[in-house]
Amino acid sequence: MSLADVQSRLVKACKAAGRQVDDVTLIAVSKVQPEDRVRAVLAQRHRAFGENRVQEAEGRWTPLKAEYPDVRLSLIGPLQTNKARGAMKFFDEIQSLDRPKLVRKLADLAQELGHAPKLMVQVNTGEEPQKAGILPTDADAFIEQARSMDLPVTGLMCIPPVDETPSLHFALLAKIAERNGLAGLSMGMSADFEQAIAFGATHVRVGSAVFGARVPG
Ligand SMILES: *Cc1c(COP(=O)(O)O)cnc(C)c1O
Repeated sequence: MSLADVQSRLVKACKAAGRQVDDVTLIAVSKVQPEDRVRAVLAQRHRAFGENRVQEAEGRWTPLKAEYPDVRLSLIGPLQTNKARGAMKFFDEIQSLDRPKLVRKLADLAQELGHAPKLMVQVNTGEEPQKAGILPTDADAFIEQARSMDLPVTGLMCIPPVDETPSLHFALLAKIAERNGLAGLSMGMSADFEQAIAFGATHVRVGSAVFGARVPG
């Protein structure tokens, strides 16, 4: 369990899939991890990180970004509209665009701030009631809505159901992206990122395999 280990597995998975290593971004998911583990990964020159909560991310990364200005942060958790302004300013990418109300809010903020981070649409590929994301049947219209409001949608993100074969979900996400002309695919976590790479992932979100198990609390 280490950054080097995950990187070498990523390289192998790219080779096996006939893909370029540079076409896959490893997002190290640092949520809840103690700072010494995060610093250890920064010291190994890794710069792409993911967090799932806006306030926790701001608390951790405001000082760290002063030290490491080239850090790139992705928001991978649900975004409440009342935290959207802060998130638009703080993150380089928001992967959890998951409902029409949030699209309208981000579009208004993009106008006002004159900029927007890269955006990915979260698709609820397993159609799980408790999970965020647009249903697969609604995805095309939703992407169109975001585009019509000039939001920079670059790809799709999914979190497959824990008890199902992830590859079916990766394939579905890739299909929706392709028919909408989207190049980005954020899929694959510690347990299945190699499979996700085989199905075309351009971003893998890996937490525990990089940092070790998350300490509960
Ligand atoms: C926590 C989290 C991850 C990382 O999970 P691991 O199993 O620790 O790799 C990836 N994506 C999202 C959306 C997460 O919330």
